[in-house]
Amino acid sequence: MKFGILDYLTESSIEQAVIGTVGKVSCYQCRYVNELPSDISELTAVMAWHYLKIDSQTIDRLSSCRVIVRVGVGIDNVDVEYAGKVGIPVVHIPDYGTNDVADHAFGLLLTIARKIHYYNENIQNNPVQGWNPNISLPVFRLTGKVIGIIGFGRIGMSMAARAKAFGMNVVFYDPYKADGYDKMLQIKRVETLDELIPQVDVLSIHAPLTSETRGMISKDILAKAKRGFTLINTARGEIVSLDAVYESMQKGDMMHFAADVLEQEPPAHDHPLLKAYHDKEPWLDGRVVLTPHAGFYAEETRREMRQKAAIQMLHAGIGQPLT
Ligand code: NAD
Repeated sequence: MKFGILDYLTESSIEQAVIGTVGKVSCYQCRYVNELPSDISELTAVMAWHYLKIDSQTIDRLSSCRVIVRVGVGIDNVDVEYAGKVGIPVVHIPDYGTNDVADHAFGLLLTIARKIHYYNENIQNNPVQGWNPNISLPVFRLTGKVIGIIGFGRIGMSMAARAKAFGMNVVFYDPYKADGYDKMLQIKRVETLDELIPQVDVLSIHAPLTSETRGMISKDILAKAKRGFTLINTARGEIVSLDAVYESMQKGDMMHFAADVLEQEPPAHDHPLLKAYHDKEPWLDGRVVLTPHAGFYAEETRREMRQKAAIQMLHAGIGQPLT
């Protein structure tokens, strides 16, 4: 039996340890599906991170495949409908790194609220003049502020716990969540996005990318936000229109934007917002923090996630039900 790790892992020791006794594990290290060689047709099971867009043509090439394992949360990079039609199940690893992503989202919020990135960079660039608290910066207090959470699943709930511990007031919007969480956690629930947006100081996104959430944070939605609010996105870049963020930040309506994910990854640096960020234009000083889709990452999580993905491939290989 042959198992394939389609994208960029550089070694396969963890996967070898789990499935090496039943078959051969190959690492393809591809960034784009057109780099995949013809022998992928022999693979019994494959795993891929979020970079590779596994479209219907690629699925057709996986003619011996019994399962596609998405290493991570979210299956938006796989044509799941087509895979279903040709009888290949697609699984992801939903229960890894929940607290790591919430830590990252809250870390982005703390960084931008306290301007930690700005001070650090100033001191590095100029040890003497950089030692200056710059009281004209929009540093703000978290205690007492309202945080709105879109998507109250694993990560959204973990984010809410952190926000509560910092004395923030939590409101969430999730049309698919069962009743009762607001009472149980003593927080507020709203039924619509329109109701949520005007009342929040901070908005944090934790919903999956679906046809409903794609482009959800649009110019029209941002026009309803409180002046001076902060947007945090660690979910998927395509949920937030970068054009809308740029327009809102230029007007000063959105004060801060901190994101681990962008509409295009790696980002298109010719976008006016990213250009202003790279060129350190004074009007944007310290108002944007970006990280390179790293929210999931911790040494422990990476190991855990790869082990769980390899177990799914093993199950498909030996004909056991997927977990
Ligand atoms: P989850 O499935 O536990 O929670 C998602 C929640 O969003 C669910 O409660 C669901 O009801 C809700 N939801 C669905 N559609 C919605 C809509 N239209 N409006 C509002 N809420 C909606 O998922 P999770 O584990 O909490 O992960 C959330 C997302 O975080 C993932 O889908 C993934 O895109 C992203 N993520 C990012 C990283 C990273 O490295 N930055 C890592 C892991 C996950």
